[in-house]
Amino acid sequence: MRITRTIEETRAALHGEVGLVPTMGAYHAGHISLFAAARKENGLVVASLFVNPAQFGDAADLARYPRDEAADAAIAEEHGVDVLFAPPVEELYPPGFETWVEVERAMQGLEGSFRPGHFRGVATICLKLFNIVRPRRAYFGQKDAQQVEVLRRMVRDLNLELDLELRVLPTVRDADGLALSSRNARLSPDARAAALALPRALATKDLARARELLAGLDVDYVEIAPFDPPVLAAAVRVGDIRLIDNVPLDEGDRS
Ligand code: AMP
Repeated sequence: MRITRTIEETRAALHGEVGLVPTMGAYHAGHISLFAAARKENGLVVASLFVNPAQFGDAADLARYPRDEAADAAIAEEHGVDVLFAPPVEELYPPGFETWVEVERAMQGLEGSFRPGHFRGVATICLKLFNIVRPRRAYFGQKDAQQVEVLRRMVRDLNLELDLELRVLPTVRDADGLALSSRNARLSPDARAAALALPRALATKDLARARELLAGLDVDYVEIAPFDPPVLAAAVRVGDIRLIDNVPLDEGDRS
């Protein structure tokens, strides 16, 4: 596996059909499932490892985001990544940067209401990565359902679909049901026990039941979102840790 720092080096490493897995690091089995899918479906697998400052509203959240490039590189290599693009911030946001992607409606509501500017940062960095890496397929987790919705809309609206397919993989969970997230490492045992109400509530696939089961937590939202597929989605805060999760709904679950 090669680690690249610049757009130029990354471009020079590309050949054949490329699968891209955009990430911010702190790899767990959720990321690994994306690497595995990309490995199976493409000649060359590129993962980006970049903690994108533009998608963090809160400077403290950005500062405490876990970073361990050596550990991540070992995991990426083990799981078939060919090129790990890990640029410094200035490579992607040089002085004078001022162009942003807004996906007007899809950015609103749910995460968009609680993290202003987040999806503008996500859409912009993903478009930049798509332009740099020119992937045939790009891999995302269902865990971030609204992110998928925003990116699908962007891909259609900007006619990227002619060359690029978005692939969405199911949410990977721990044995107790908690969706894997880099933020879980910061949960104390008590906080983790409290956080389990989130997957349990969503597993009911019933909005009213989910609301009841989340009543003891600090809930940002619990809603049915008309995505493709529709999901029951929620965000809660356990101490200073914010967790999001969702479950896809089938036809019968929505009445
Ligand atoms: P991140 O590094 O957190 O930006 O995530 C990189 C990609 O991994 C995104 O497409 C996420 O949706 C995906 N991802 C994060 N957690 C999970 C999970 N538990 N299961 C599946 N995919 C995930």
